[in-house]
Amino acid sequence: MLKAAVLGATGMVGQIFIHLLNGHPWFEVTVVAASERSAGLKYSQAAKWKLPTPIPESVSDLEVLDINPNAVKNVDLVFSALPAEVAGKTEEDFAKAGCVVVSNASSHRMEPDVPILNPEANYDHICLIEEQRRRRKWSGAIVTNPNCSTATLTIPLKPIYDEFGITKIVVTTMQALSGAGYPGVSSLDILDNVIPFIRNEEEKMQSETLKILGSPSKPADFKVSASCNRVATLDGHTEAVFVGLKREADPEAVIKVLESFVGEPQKLKLPTAPAKPVVVRREEDRPQTRLDRMEGKGMSVVVGRVRKDPVMEGIKFTALGHNTIRGAAGVGILNAECLRSKKYI
Ligand code: NAP
Repeated sequence: MLKAAVLGATGMVGQIFIHLLNGHPWFEVTVVAASERSAGLKYSQAAKWKLPTPIPESVSDLEVLDINPNAVKNVDLVFSALPAEVAGKTEEDFAKAGCVVVSNASSHRMEPDVPILNPEANYDHICLIEEQRRRRKWSGAIVTNPNCSTATLTIPLKPIYDEFGITKIVVTTMQALSGAGYPGVSSLDILDNVIPFIRNEEEKMQSETLKILGSPSKPADFKVSASCNRVATLDGHTEAVFVGLKREADPEAVIKVLESFVGEPQKLKLPTAPAKPVVVRREEDRPQTRLDRMEGKGMSVVVGRVRKDPVMEGIKFTALGHNTIRGAAGVGILNAECLRSKKYI
């Protein structure tokens, strides 16, 4: 078993890491770390546990450590679920100390030698680690996953882009509350309401999508326009996606491409890879958040309502992805499995 540390282990994403890594065939959580508010406490005392299953016994009594490489020792890899304000320097310190860091934070995502890995879409971007090690003269590495709404968007876009080409994308999101972390948005602000603003989210979707769908050294060359909203669901981001296509395609042809799509994680049979990265629902009223977010144990993106779009000269559809699983901890673990399969860990 490889030993893993979770930084930000007490937070929303950190808790999902702890839950998903419980019983993982390759990785075992041996270190949990968080802010000075939590350091020194037992994990079960420090974390306001929000999941319906109990805290795994193997983690419950671990002492929460400070997030610095001098305190966190003897681990093979580090999962980071830290806020961006602290992740930037901390993750660099770990990479300098020789650790492979798999990060959920946005701090390093847009740096040219750091991959944003959503591995069914861009497994080949792992090669950026070589350039990163050369440039930065460290033996560790930083690999990021996309922000949660981009993680959902880029999975169905990948096979569409490869098969038909894309000229432009317009996307409107309806994003769940868990995306804002804990305690997140106040109930008085969100109940009976939709908030049409999530700071930096639209910019992230617009730039990360192009980096992921491009080559390792060059972003894709179409434009993306995103409009992001916070809604009163707990988990699961829904996206209304409008895609201009280079080659004309009817909805059936697009559905066929989506249904037959598999990526490298499926070919490698990685433990966290869903059997189908995209699940297409043909009912007129699916996907729905409550019914569909756990498809593929939360790792599949569910697509429905695929239809022609006369304005975009292409297609439009609705996509749903679980934000803390496919959009955060789940994709982070899948990325670590990819790194293991490439012998970077
Ligand atoms: P969260 O619930 O607010 O948790 C933050 C975690 O970081 C807690 O463990 C907290 O520890 C720790 N922390 C906060 N300030 C710290 C400091 N100064 N030093 C050390 N540790 C500190 O946030 P989250 O939603 O889990 O998000 C974590 C990261 O994942 C963020 O970068 C976020 O943007 C990203 N992300 C989130 C989602 C999502 O759906 N939620 C999706 C994709 C990416 P204490 O408990 O001790 O305060």
